[in-house]
Amino acid sequence: MRTAVVLLTRDLRLHDNPALAAACAADRAVPLYVLDPALAGLSPNRTRFLHQCLADLRGQLRAKGGDLVVRQGDPVAETIRVARETGAGTIHLAADVSGYARRRERRLREESERHRIALELHPGVTVVEPGAVRPGGGGESYRVFTPYFRSWSAAPWRGQAQTPQRVALPDGLTAGDLPGPPAGESPHACEGGETEARRRLTTWMRQDLPGYAEAHDDLPGDGTSRLSPYLRWGCLSPLALAEAARDRGADAFVRQLCWRDFYYQVTRVFPGISTDALRPGADNDWRYDDDALQHWKDGLTGVPVVDAGMRQLRDEGWMHNRARLITAAFLTKHLGIDWRLGVAWFFRWLLDGDVPNNSGNWQWTAGTGNDTRPYRRFNPIRQALRFDPDGVYVRRYVPELKGINGAAVHQPWRLPASEFRSLDYPGPLESHRDEAVWLR
Ligand code: FAD
Repeated sequence: MRTAVVLLTRDLRLHDNPALAAACAADRAVPLYVLDPALAGLSPNRTRFLHQCLADLRGQLRAKGGDLVVRQGDPVAETIRVARETGAGTIHLAADVSGYARRRERRLREESERHRIALELHPGVTVVEPGAVRPGGGGESYRVFTPYFRSWSAAPWRGQAQTPQRVALPDGLTAGDLPGPPAGESPHACEGGETEARRRLTTWMRQDLPGYAEAHDDLPGDGTSRLSPYLRWGCLSPLALAEAARDRGADAFVRQLCWRDFYYQVTRVFPGISTDALRPGADNDWRYDDDALQHWKDGLTGVPVVDAGMRQLRDEGWMHNRARLITAAFLTKHLGIDWRLGVAWFFRWLLDGDVPNNSGNWQWTAGTGNDTRPYRRFNPIRQALRFDPDGVYVRRYVPELKGINGAAVHQPWRLPASEFRSLDYPGPLESHRDEAVWLR
């Protein structure tokens, strides 16, 4: 009787899950999740979402005759313990790229060798595996997106893994308690889990995918998929999603999924992406202005489109990509504040927060990363007038301004002085005043 353990990490799904499928090919399979106390405090929003994903996965595995085995503690020690308890010959794991994931993998390899248990790594976290396509001339990763996109588009994609039909747990193994979801911080965060992900995917593909290319930058239209938290936790297979989109000719959407893969292959060779500038020498002269930083975090900069984005982040644990660009550029290029402080704030709130995409995009915006035009500036007012021309997005998230009609909402300081003073809304930040003049 062959027994296998699959250590699930951020691949919380049944469909196209190569590590789970490989474990289920044995006579007995143990789908294991280890709640790691080292990660518990990082983000209440993501911890809540994770627990919802686990509850959904447990329900689905039970419907297939199995269960989700839950343990708490060090993932390596607990995985070895469960493998030994069940006499498993193999541990399966999805390969991942962050420094934390790589350390976990290395330790698991050492420990499984010590106990003579095989460790098998599987793809599944990206569409194309990080490192599978490489630039000519011996480079380890692409630094610029467009040539990566060309190679990525031409690369063969793996076949999708079969969804397990039945899951047979070893006899006598206790599944372990899964505590109810802890409280998050964002009142309007979406709910985690593969079931919810598939429901959203079906609706979105029918309603919004056809118009994605034209609408994805439109702030009030909110026409992007909002699937990023489900990709982050692996409730959706990025490969299955990319194939479905490609079959429908949705090239613009497939291209966005490629951006996700791009930052994974950068992180694979540059694990310090959250702390060290990708372009040596690009990182200098940042300001450390606690007061300005706090205004930015609170959505009280006095620049309405920036404040709307920052409040959406707190309210939903998610922010529209265009607003992420505007708010990140405002912090780094206008206020001149260190991008790492922005990384940390986003990482606390985002349901989709992950190291490659959060840090990679912050570095792109700050000009320390993979942007081929690192000195570009985003003028927030011009961005607002272009992507929220009637001010609908701003009024949705900044109620103090809901009485101002149309595009005037983007520059309240241009209202007659008495009208502006009657708003419970700040003028542009002190340190930003000259800029505000220039923005007129
Ligand atoms: P859609 O437009 O529907 O795109 C589909 C998918 O493509 C997304 O779910 C995402 O997986 C991927 N994608 C889209 N744009 C990007 C991009 N620029 N980079 C990488 N992948 C992309 N994305 C994260 O998943 N996690 C993060 O922590 C994160 N932090 C960011 C920080 C900053 C400063 C910026 C500018 C962007 C960040 N992004 C991050 C990228 C992007 O904003 C989100 O992926 C996107 O807004 C998610 O919404 P959606 O699912 O509706 O996207």
